[in-house]
Amino acid sequence: MLDALVERVKNFFGTSRPAEQMVRTPVVIPKSVHGISRDQVAWQALRTCEALQSRGFKAYVVGGAVRDLLLGVTPKDFDVATDATPQEVKRCQRRAVIIGRRFRLVHVIFGREIIECSTFRALSGAGVRRDAEGRVLSDNVFGEMWEDAARRDFTINALYYDPKTEELYDYHHGFEDLSKRCLRIIGDPIERYREDPVRMLRAIRISAKLGFRIDRSTERPIPKLARLLENIPSARLVDELLKLLTCGHAVACIGRLHEEGLQKALSPLLHTVLSDPEGEKFFMLALKRTDERLSIGKKISPFFLFATLLWPLVLRRWRYNESQKGMSRLAAIHEASVEVLATECHQLSIQRRFQADMHDVWMLQAKLERRTGKAPFSTLQHPRYRAAYDFLRLRSQAGELPEALPDWWESFAESDEDARRTMVEAAQAEARSTAEAARGGRGKLAAEAGEKPRRRRPRRRRRRPSGASSGGNPS
Ligand code: ATP
Ligand code: MG
Repeated sequence: MLDALVERVKNFFGTSRPAEQMVRTPVVIPKSVHGISRDQVAWQALRTCEALQSRGFKAYVVGGAVRDLLLGVTPKDFDVATDATPQEVKRCQRRAVIIGRRFRLVHVIFGREIIECSTFRALSGAGVRRDAEGRVLSDNVFGEMWEDAARRDFTINALYYDPKTEELYDYHHGFEDLSKRCLRIIGDPIERYREDPVRMLRAIRISAKLGFRIDRSTERPIPKLARLLENIPSARLVDELLKLLTCGHAVACIGRLHEEGLQKALSPLLHTVLSDPEGEKFFMLALKRTDERLSIGKKISPFFLFATLLWPLVLRRWRYNESQKGMSRLAAIHEASVEVLATECHQLSIQRRFQADMHDVWMLQAKLERRTGKAPFSTLQHPRYRAAYDFLRLRSQAGELPEALPDWWESFAESDEDARRTMVEAAQAEARSTAEAARGGRGKLAAEAGEKPRRRRPRRRRRRPSGASSGGNPS
């Protein structure tokens, strides 16, 4: 795909790059050269453009979608740029909402699909508010198409596709850079990073995702400017962190973040986890698996990623609560989970529903150790069983557990009722015999998994302290 593109670019431009930057006048690239056809564009984006164009406005598909289509990659989403104001866009579309205060945009809604429609932004103006470092805080001053192009981050992200004429408008040699697999920022790199330091993270993500090199002058200032990320609201950073981890090339992104010295500035927690060999091994394995899942079109859940990121902290507290406070396995992990969620989730802006899922996956790690009695049957029915099993498998791959435990669960889940009962009886017998052989010591598997042999104790009635809720029971 790319070879054909390189050939077409060479034929179109010749071998040398035009000397002058065509800032106000774009190069118009015909379909015979760029190769994108209208039916590769999502119908929702086509309809959004049609509605605007039929009312006399300009409307183009822009950004990552055009870039990805040129590279033969399926676009994640489609963005549209127009000269219509947000109110005018809203009037043209059946379902549309204006969002954002600092940067007003329109979301054109088609069921679950959303087309983000932005009005051409002016290059600079009285309406642009900046902080002391030069960071743009708000701007809703609208301008010309060429200004909008100059405001975009990278040359390959500033290509405009007109679905009506099927022509491509290129202001900053994006088409050529694409064929050279080069990520180049538009304008002065330092100034552009100062305006929005998140562009440094975008450079890492986009170059890792596409396997592009970052142009030297685009890359050079990054390590020095990494500190500017400290001024970015944490919710936006967490958003970027998630995008990096779920772009399908997370392992490559982590490597590049490290090289550019951006890890700590992006997330001190990520930096801490990756600085500890045990934590690094586990988290990188999780990311490798995430990349693999995405490459075969499987879904991944943000809560799972957060659960893996915070696991080293939970594990440490779990061990401590058990060995130092004498708590049971289940009570110890419950307390560890509650503590970690309370201290870390606020910083990471993790939504409440994700927190509940993370807690479940962690608690199930202790429950998956129980392979006797009725416990395995109810564990298997848990709505988070599948995620918890995947988590257990990861822990064993990282060397934290023997493989036999996830293997056992894999066969248990695949067996019918009778076979499951036989498996539980066998596990029970095994636990009894190893317990007897070790005279109250631990069975190999159980010990490595942290399972305690069950001792029969006379049942004692427990009184619930007044005012305590049953929610305090970790099980
Ligand atoms: P993808 O959607 O695959 O993650 P993308 O490049 O489309 O990549 P979006 O966040 O969807 O990323 O942004 C759409 C477009 O908006 C970009 O291609 C770029 O032109 C512009 N853009 C986004 N963020 C910035 C930014 N921080 N500074 C300048 N332009 C930006
Ligand atoms: Mg996009």
